[in-house]
Amino acid sequence: MQYAMVDGSRVEAFPSGKGTCPICEAPAVAKCGERVMHHWAHARDRLCDPWWENETPWHRDWKAHFPADCREVAHVAGDDEVHRADVKTPTGIIVEIQNSPISDTERKSREAFYGNMIWIVNGARFKERFHILHALPDPESELAKDIVWFRARHNQARGLFWRRSLNPDQVPGAGGMVLIHGIDRIDAEVVALSRGHFQYDWVRAHAGWLESGCPVYLDFGDDWLWRLERYGDYGLPCVYAVGRRKLVYDLMIERRSEDLATRFYPLQPG
Ligand SMILES: [Zn+2]
Repeated sequence: MQYAMVDGSRVEAFPSGKGTCPICEAPAVAKCGERVMHHWAHARDRLCDPWWENETPWHRDWKAHFPADCREVAHVAGDDEVHRADVKTPTGIIVEIQNSPISDTERKSREAFYGNMIWIVNGARFKERFHILHALPDPESELAKDIVWFRARHNQARGLFWRRSLNPDQVPGAGGMVLIHGIDRIDAEVVALSRGHFQYDWVRAHAGWLESGCPVYLDFGDDWLWRLERYGDYGLPCVYAVGRRKLVYDLMIERRSEDLATRFYPLQPG
């Protein structure tokens, strides 16, 4: 934990610090060794929040994007169940910052408990298996509405598609003969119409994240986060690029998790 209660205030760990857990009120002691990230721990082995994950510098870096009173916020729902959310924004969106894989059962429980939430998933451990492939045109464009893409694979040379206008009797996913084209014929057009959607190939994907009912953002450690999405009326898996700063900015003003990074705000002058 980053915070414990000391004399009625939420404070960060300090050497020899003693306080209480904000959730279960059991005694907490500060851990301020030279080699460990400073944190609080329960004085006696106690698991007051079974969803709590050991904190890493990656967690702390994410929390640091938000005001201190938005971090580690107790959330009560249902039958007086209490959990400690990693971040709860001033507008009420819960951000769960997830470093290690979790079971589908736990993922679903947390989504049901928090409702208005997003996941930020550390992609470091599967970065080498996650291939971001060719761009896709803006799903609202005429081109996108005419084209049906085949699922791209990382060991395949180029994106493949067929046109509804040239195959008027075909339905996506139904099989049958279609005239197939390669993306190189329309590369410039696709790039010009791109708004941040890409095909991807996730080798040995963590299926749970693909089935999540809440927005999932993958963090591979650079300036862009990748939101898992579906594209077109045929549900092609795709990722959508969202700037790290854009996501943090939107989290402070948007009220619903599904509205994050869907609107453009001009930067305020000055
Ligand atoms: Zn506790």
